[in-house]
Parts: sequence; structure tokens; C-alpha cells
Amino acid sequence: MVSYEELFENNKIWAQRKSRSDPEYFARLAREQHPDYLYIGCADSRVPANDIVGLEPGEVFVHRNIANLVNNSDLNVMAVINYAVVHLGVKHIIVCGHYNCGGVKAAMQAKDLGILNPWLRNVRDVYRLHQAELQQIQNDHERYNRLVELNVTEQCINVIKTAEVQQSYHSKGYPEVHGWIFDLPTGRIKDLKINFEEKLRAIEEIYNLTGQPWPERSS
Ligand SMILES: [Zn+2]
Repeated sequence: MVSYEELFENNKIWAQRKSRSDPEYFARLAREQHPDYLYIGCADSRVPANDIVGLEPGEVFVHRNIANLVNNSDLNVMAVINYAVVHLGVKHIIVCGHYNCGGVKAAMQAKDLGILNPWLRNVRDVYRLHQAELQQIQNDHERYNRLVELNVTEQCINVIKTAEVQQSYHSKGYPEVHGWIFDLPTGRIKDLKINFEEKLRAIEEIYNLTGQPWPERSS
């Protein structure tokens, strides 16, 4: 284990290395940020947002929580989406789940988990929404993996339900919403290829908050 004191030493080495290769690096970072991406991922320590896609500080706005949830009563994630879309003008919003997700696994068990109950209820609700499909899968591990994927898809739909995302997409043509799975055993990202416009239209009847019909452009 890396000791607590070593963290400061590591930081010093990192800052020196960055400054040596680019003397303006921190001055530039300190001035402003222009990330094109908002990444919403799991808090799991094995899935570092910047690293898995090779992005530097300043290039991706990050929000992480247990099981990468986008809960409409969670002020934290709602504020992050608002800031990213309205003020930073991100072009893409990525919801990234991962196989071997402890949060999703815990939600699959009918068990009292204390304060985690209301949080993981969101994943249990995803299970209930897709119960017919999930119950067809005999293998426990495959069913678990499928719930990880379905959870990401549902969280993408939750992103699409927000007024900020709809209004920005309507007026500017972005952001697009993407669902990814990080495969821990290989380190590779799997794009669930969520059809953003199709999802927008599927929820239009009761979730359209733009006050206008959905745009007809295709991505
Ligand atoms: Zn996780």
C-alpha cells in the first residue's frame, strides 16, 4: 500500500514532470477549462475516468458515484449535468458502467443494505423494468453483466430526460449521449451504441421539456 505521506511525494514528482515537459501546463490549466466531454461513471477505484480514454486534466468533466446513477432527485448529478451542458457546452455526455460492478451486484440481492437501500433501489428498479429479459438468462454471471448494460442504458435515458440536455440539443445539435461499458478483465471499452435520437423520440410524449417538437436532424 502507498503510504499517506507518499501521496505528497508522488504529487511533487507528477507536478515536476508535467512542468518539465510543458512549462505552461499548469498556468494554462489554471486559466480555464474547455472539456468537450462529460463523463458519468462508477466511483469504483478500478475505473479511472481520464486514464481509460487517454484524456488530460481539462479535457473531461467528471462525475462519479456508486453504480454510475443519474437519479433525478440527486442534486449532485443534476448540478453537474446543468453546469456541463449550459456553462461548459460539452459536446458528448458519456455514462460509463463496468462489468464486475459491486454496486450492481449488491442491488441484485434481496438484502437490507442500510443507507445503500435508497441508492441501489435505482438499480433494483432497472432490474424490475427488464425483469422479463433478465429472467430468461440462466447463467448468473451473464445476467449480472446484462444488468450492468441495462443500467447504463437506463441512466442514459435519465440524462436525456433532463431539460438542459433536450434544450441544448434542440438549439445547438449537442450534446449527444453515449452508453459505455468498461470491461475490467481486458481494459477495453464497449460502446453500447445507444441511438440517441431514437431514445429522444421514444420518451417524447411525456418527457419533452423543450416546448417544441423534436428536431429532425440525424447524427
Ligand atoms: Zn461499479
